[in-house]
Amino acid sequence: MPMMTAEQYEKSLRKLNLKVYMFGEQIKNVVDDPIIRPSMNAVAKTYELAHKPEHEDLMTAKSHLNGAKVNRFTHIHQNIDDLVKKSKMGRLLGAHTGCCFQRCVGMDTLNALSMTTYDIDQKYGTDYYQRFEKYLEYVQANDLTCDGAMTDPKGDRSLPPHKQKDPDMFVHVVEELPDGIVVRGAKAHQTGAVNSHEIIVMPTISLREPDKDYAVSFALPSDAEGITYIMGRQSCDTRKLEGEKNIDRGNLYFGGHEALVVLDDVFVPWDRVFMFKEYDFSGQLVEQFASYHRQSYACKVGVGDVLIGAAVAAAEYNGVERASHIRDKIIEMNHLNETLYCGCIACASEGHKEPSGTYYVNTLLANVHKQNVTRFPYEMARLAQDVAGGLMVTLPSEKDLKSAEVGKWIEKYFKAREGVPTENRMRILRLIENLTLGTAAVGYLTESMHGAGSPQAQRIMISRQINLDQKKRLAQFLCGIEE
Ligand code: SF4
Ligand code: FE
Repeated sequence: MPMMTAEQYEKSLRKLNLKVYMFGEQIKNVVDDPIIRPSMNAVAKTYELAHKPEHEDLMTAKSHLNGAKVNRFTHIHQNIDDLVKKSKMGRLLGAHTGCCFQRCVGMDTLNALSMTTYDIDQKYGTDYYQRFEKYLEYVQANDLTCDGAMTDPKGDRSLPPHKQKDPDMFVHVVEELPDGIVVRGAKAHQTGAVNSHEIIVMPTISLREPDKDYAVSFALPSDAEGITYIMGRQSCDTRKLEGEKNIDRGNLYFGGHEALVVLDDVFVPWDRVFMFKEYDFSGQLVEQFASYHRQSYACKVGVGDVLIGAAVAAAEYNGVERASHIRDKIIEMNHLNETLYCGCIACASEGHKEPSGTYYVNTLLANVHKQNVTRFPYEMARLAQDVAGGLMVTLPSEKDLKSAEVGKWIEKYFKAREGVPTENRMRILRLIENLTLGTAAVGYLTESMHGAGSPQAQRIMISRQINLDQKKRLAQFLCGIEE
């Protein structure tokens, strides 16, 4: 099957039999659910743009397995150019959707597994890499969306998995059978889980011998028996129930989602198991996935493009775009956004080839990039709110604008620059609200903080990779100190 179109992707999701709960009730029709659908639309963009000639270069790649043209989200990076294009693709899609488009976690998992499975085989003579390549061929041939599932609930953070009072706080093997394994546990904050065809599970921390039952990685069809999804709430989520094109949604088309994924004694056949008790490789897999995913936060640069555009429009609608302090704030937003872009391009450009043949990002720079992402979007959101003005959060609803009784007052008193309809002013303010306080703020702000690891995780990785002695020697030489 060639690459799927957006329509084929939607159709493929309809065939899945997912067990999804939201607000305490099971969702029968996931694809058409008004709260979930915008997140499906965002993933669908990754399919749609792959068929556009102008985006083909970024959105598609040549499979190293068979030379077929594949969606880049299923590709294993074969050179530096692939890594750079991945960063550019993230910005492109962030700009087209104004939210998290979810599909990068699967791409990052596939790439990390391509390296770790190879390395495990080198040490233990196992055949994980072969299994992985067979699985990858299936993913590429069917153009699947994969959820890369890493974050365990973790219970008491001071205790390792085997010392937890409840052994299910980390996903683990509960039974070993001739034809496969049975696993139990949960993965939290799973981005795009119910828009995925596959769930690929990895350990969440570096593990030791007593935790070897937790050192497990495997892939499951997303509707496998025993999987339950419980949707996370987002600020202002029920505004999506107020009508498909309701102004108060801010972003009328796209959104992201996260879910708790519960694995209640799920069977995994051996050909879908990519790590089984090789605890000494769990840390490597976590680190490689995390570094790739920290690069993937190129997406926030694209969302930043949208926020800057919204701030510029809001300033124009208010008639203040020429004020020097407004211009300066817009320049500052661009400076921050392009600084982020530098990081995601740099960690790709400075990548290298691993023994498996996969190209891997420069991990120091990927961590520096993600550390910037934990900060700059917050400052950009602050500036956008400053430029937009307080009306962004005191604005009455679309229903008031359309009301026979009070609509005229909304029109009259919220009108600003001549020639700009009050409705347009409301729309742009609602978009800024959505990006900085509403459903999209999950992706643009809190996900920027905690996604792909919280800020401290990057600081640990940065501290491990900097050579302070060398820097000290440089300084000592210049001022004539000999030690
Ligand atoms: Fe991809 Fe960004 Fe969403 Fe992570 S936050 S899944 S990198 S779009
Ligand atoms: Fe994420």
